[in-house]
Amino acid sequence: MTQPVILWLRRDLRLADQPALAAAVDSSAPVIPVFVLDDEKPKHRKMGGASRWWLHHSLASLDADLQKRGSRLILRCGNVVSILSELAQVTGAAAIHCIRHYEPWWRNAERALKEALPDGCALVRHHGNYLMPPGSVTTGAGGPFKIYTPFWRALSAHMPPPAPMPAPDALASPKEWPASEHVEDWNLLPTKPDWAGGMRDFWTPGEAGAQDRLADFIDRADRYQEDRNCPSIEGTSFLSPHLHFGEISPAACWHATMRAGGSVETFLKELVWRDYAANVILQFPDYGARNARASFDAFPWRDANDPVIAAELEAWKRGRTGYPIVDAGMRQLWATGWMHNRVRMIAASFLIKHLLIDWREGERWFWDTLVDADYASNAVNWQWTAGTGVDSNMFVRIMAPLSQSEKFDAAAYVRQWVPELIGLDAPYIHDPDEFSRRPSSYPPKIIGHREARERALAAYHSQGK
Ligand SMILES: Cc1cc2nc3c(=O)[nH]c(=O)nc-3n(C[C@H](O)[C@H](O)[C@H](O)COP(=O)(O)OP(=O)(O)OC[C@H]3O[C@@H](n4cnc5c(N)ncnc54)[C@H](O)[C@@H]3O)c2cc1C
Repeated sequence: MTQPVILWLRRDLRLADQPALAAAVDSSAPVIPVFVLDDEKPKHRKMGGASRWWLHHSLASLDADLQKRGSRLILRCGNVVSILSELAQVTGAAAIHCIRHYEPWWRNAERALKEALPDGCALVRHHGNYLMPPGSVTTGAGGPFKIYTPFWRALSAHMPPPAPMPAPDALASPKEWPASEHVEDWNLLPTKPDWAGGMRDFWTPGEAGAQDRLADFIDRADRYQEDRNCPSIEGTSFLSPHLHFGEISPAACWHATMRAGGSVETFLKELVWRDYAANVILQFPDYGARNARASFDAFPWRDANDPVIAAELEAWKRGRTGYPIVDAGMRQLWATGWMHNRVRMIAASFLIKHLLIDWREGERWFWDTLVDADYASNAVNWQWTAGTGVDSNMFVRIMAPLSQSEKFDAAAYVRQWVPELIGLDAPYIHDPDEFSRRPSSYPPKIIGHREARERALAAYHSQGK
């Protein structure tokens, strides 16, 4: 009897351009696709609520796609190393194929699994979730890059990536399928209250949803450079959760964008930020928890356990800071699990500099609420905004939310997400405190911009900076 092979799926929930799946199919062996929900390890970063909602639907969609090809998805919950090694033993698998992942917990799991597999079963790791394998793009001296721009230059010299592979037509099944759990029993969806209505309206998790998003973006890719900074316009691709869950490969996005033609370099550069972030966490695995610039370890952040400061943190999370663009962003995040990139920068800068709250509080909130919550991209962007990261120190770049809102014409965006302000026009929509008949249902500014700026700079300089 032909020995089966196991296809271990994690954030690579697609059939097209999936090198681990292609290798499994090419081996001509029966393929057992497996997803393990592993919440057990203490060091494991448990997935946030919004990601769990997405995962539920993405797994259901992948299972349906596999069934159309005569296969199915086996689901198990528990310690990933024990489950996979036991499954390899029981099924007599000749190999486990997977795409390499770079989060520290996945690197540890891959190492441990290699050791734990029964004799005769190999762990075969493929490259597939990034444009280039993280760690492979190096400086002239052979070291890793710390700064984005030279990284982009070096990576783009290797582009385009190989042409994407189509999904296989069929997968050979094993004689007997191992037992599977049911995704419905994993309680990944919210119950009471059901906060996912806005997500259901806006997103279609799964590979077909990803391809639709890409097709929709391709039609307007030539306007990306102009539109991407305006939150009132649907100017960006909305591909981030699909890319995070691996429902589409970055290579497929690269090729489709190039085919669209026009000035697409700005978009490709953004796509490369994702690769850059993976390269950073490969060098600094605890980037989501520790300042890369140790000089910030003694920074006088305001204590988020203090009730007054905790209330300010809560106002930020709920979109009640009195700064319309920040509040619109935070409410968009809560409702849809996504926030426009420029507004993410403004909201993050506001928490760190206006409220002087440690960036890690914001990182954790985004981790829980973003459908695209990604360990590498989230940590890299938070540390970048805070100035604590490996790249240039941005602490003194204190974004002015009111002028950002005007400059990027966020009026329609604010009206959409802050209905208390629906009747206001520019300039008051950006700064209702300046309006004598401001709606009383909207909170006044939690702190004045100038005062906040001076306080942040004083804290910064108190460190001898
Ligand atoms: C504080 C903060 C936290 C963030 N957290 C995350 C996160 O957890 N997950 C995440 O995917 N992105 C994160 N980003 C980056 C960025 O905001 C999102 O990738 C982008 O808004 C997603 O929308 P889009 O797909 O329409 O992007 P587009 O503008 O269409 O870009 C295309 C793709 O490029 C990648 N990309 C674009 N900008 C960045 C960036 N700055 N860093 C890394 N990748 C990028 C994404 O995969 C994105 O889907 C964060 C940004 C900030 C400022």
